[in-house]
Amino acid sequence: MPRLALHWQILIAIALGGVAGLWLSSVSLPADHGLMVALKLIGQLFMNALRLLVIPLVVSSIILGVSSLGEEIGRMGGNTFAYYIGSSLAAVIIGVVCVNLIAPGIVNGAPLGSVLPLPADTSAALAKVQDKSLGDVLGLFTSMVPPNLFGAALEGNMLGLIVFSLLYGYFMGRLPAPQREAQQAFWGGAQHIMISMTQLVLRFAPAGVFALIATTLASTGFAALLPMLWFFLTVLLALGLHMFGAISLFLWRIARVSPRRHLQAMVPALLTAFSTASSTATLPVTLRALRERAGVSERVSGMSAPLGASMNMDGTALYECAAALFLAQAYGLDLSLAQQVTVVLIALLTGFGMAGIPAASLVAIAVILAAIGLPLEALGLLLITDRLLDMCRTAVNVYSDSVAAVFVASREGEALPLLRPDPTPGA
Ligand code: ASP
Repeated sequence: MPRLALHWQILIAIALGGVAGLWLSSVSLPADHGLMVALKLIGQLFMNALRLLVIPLVVSSIILGVSSLGEEIGRMGGNTFAYYIGSSLAAVIIGVVCVNLIAPGIVNGAPLGSVLPLPADTSAALAKVQDKSLGDVLGLFTSMVPPNLFGAALEGNMLGLIVFSLLYGYFMGRLPAPQREAQQAFWGGAQHIMISMTQLVLRFAPAGVFALIATTLASTGFAALLPMLWFFLTVLLALGLHMFGAISLFLWRIARVSPRRHLQAMVPALLTAFSTASSTATLPVTLRALRERAGVSERVSGMSAPLGASMNMDGTALYECAAALFLAQAYGLDLSLAQQVTVVLIALLTGFGMAGIPAASLVAIAVILAAIGLPLEALGLLLITDRLLDMCRTAVNVYSDSVAAVFVASREGEALPLLRPDPTPGA
């Protein structure tokens, strides 16, 4: 019997995990019940296995990709960053417009904060973001030059590892031929081993995804979402407009790639991003989908995808703006245009250096709240919907990273199978 394709297996696992999670939340099993412990363990093992692959995969693919580039490195870097800036800007504008038009923080003319009590158990989450200032968040930029390479790997400092690997690859490409070829053979071998290991981990994806979704829904449930439903739907709408509207238009008009076929190619990565809420953990799957399903070369995907997972977060930037404006509405604070611009700028800046892990944006939102004069406790409201929206914004982050890769590949003249046919001259 032919095996069901991986993305179908993952999709079925998400659906079954959803049903199991809702059932678990309705019977309210205690966290130390055997079933809950087993599900947590399976989910954690899957996440760990993916994250275990990330560092060797990032290092080997960047080194190998950059070492084979000549002068085109500047052009590729320019196209990549032009895309990051343009797509993040489009995302925040869509977020700001949607929240201003729909006003989910105002219910029957009254600010939501005056009618909805804050959830009680927010202290642990708030303690994590306490006393964070813009300086702390922008301090991420200093992590680009870590004092110790192994320290950077230990701390999960992706940006530092990326900068090191870019430089290593650049100078490796300039070695005399015998040394360069020996290095390329070594790193090429290392990369192929990592890809085989990714394939092995992905065999367990359905079980891992099932466990992650079930435990998430068991602790959230849907009843808690109801008072925040408008905010939830507003963010979903904005993310949808960005992903299926703005990015699709960009793919069609500028990258000249069929948006429908690109979406189909990236399905395994999108489903993994949705289930893990971590663009970094999804990276092995993103790389594999870009190479095997979207036809992007190792040279371009190896550089573009890891860079995107650390520096390009459209969904997150959109969410930060939407969340800050929503909280301002919910607390009856009228934001001036200058304050809204401040929110947008902080969201754009923080998106460039944020870790691709679950709930990373809460720290940036805490910084934004301080900048516009809202109490940190307001963040408590967001915790109700955070995980589910995190899953959605992470999928948008990963999708945008993949679009950056196909855009650069199409600019480099790669014969992508997803390219849309050129209009017949004169038609
Ligand atoms: N979870 C997101 C990511 O990994 C970051 C965030 O928005 O919290 O891409």
